[in-house]
Amino acid sequence: MDASRELLRLIGGYQVSQAISVAARLGISDALATGPQTLAELAESTGADEQALARLLHALTALGLYTADDGSFANTELGAALRVDVPRSVAGWARFIGTGSYWQTYAALEQCVRSGETAFSIVHGEPVWEYRAKHPDEQEAFDAAMTSMADAVSDAVVTAYDFSRYESVVDVGGGHGRLLSGILERYPTIHGVLFDQPDVVAGADTERFQVVGGDFFESVPAGDALVLKSVIHDWADAESIEILRNCRRALPTDGRVLLVEQLLDRSPDPVRTALSDVNMLIMTGGRERTTDEYRRLLAAAGLTLVDTVATAGTTHVIEAAATH
Ligand code: SAH
Repeated sequence: MDASRELLRLIGGYQVSQAISVAARLGISDALATGPQTLAELAESTGADEQALARLLHALTALGLYTADDGSFANTELGAALRVDVPRSVAGWARFIGTGSYWQTYAALEQCVRSGETAFSIVHGEPVWEYRAKHPDEQEAFDAAMTSMADAVSDAVVTAYDFSRYESVVDVGGGHGRLLSGILERYPTIHGVLFDQPDVVAGADTERFQVVGGDFFESVPAGDALVLKSVIHDWADAESIEILRNCRRALPTDGRVLLVEQLLDRSPDPVRTALSDVNMLIMTGGRERTTDEYRRLLAAAGLTLVDTVATAGTTHVIEAAATH
């Protein structure tokens, strides 16, 4: 192996991320959804400078997102996955990561690692949730990003975990309710409740479920199953225990708290999970955890880990019951 060359390839990751993010924001893959286009057509339909776009497309073609034959560009399988209207689209996430406060925060990774402080707060002067509440554009882009990620995870969770024994399910910190919709699609008789910050649930499509706005540090709506997907990993242990205690309070006898998270010790994609942990370090002050760390966290909130169920994706369903 040529170590320097391999390292340079890894170092270039920032260029790849930004190139794909711009492709998503310009909507290149969407423009190619109906068939190949010439450079001039693509420049016209995406509103880009033709010569600059040609160079971006050259790079994206080399990366395997597009093909260029006889002067016209087409989606490959990779490129098509960047369309907004395909199942398990990652377009929302690609758009989000390359821009605004998110991209700027990565520049403060060094400060974060040296000081142990959350990079987001160093750069923006306040925690990420407060910042986004004041910046509706970013809130909207983040919610769309999470919804697009939830798309990929929702099917895997609903296939792997049996919700049939529950009459009611609360999606705690559920964003726009993508996972909840997936659960209700498969189990139409379940009563669904979406719970998130008032500003966030205001953007949800509320036809299929009840919507409650609030603060999970104060209380959580009651339900047979309280699902928290990608929520606990946002928080340090002390805050996580507070949220879980409120879940414990809202839990009927035989109810279950279901965490949908990656597990550091059992991830099928250890690189992705470890990088997700770095992401939590710099963005939210939270962390990814091992099975034992979740067991201890749950115990501190009066909950006993009863099962972990692997899904087809990188997440597990961590099932907990009230400790007797
Ligand atoms: N479960 C969703 C969203 C995860 S992101 C998904 O996986 O797609 C974390 C969510 O926690 C965000 O939607 C955020 O608005 C919500 N959240 C953060 N602080 C909150 C609080 N104090 N009370 C309720 N929800 C909160």
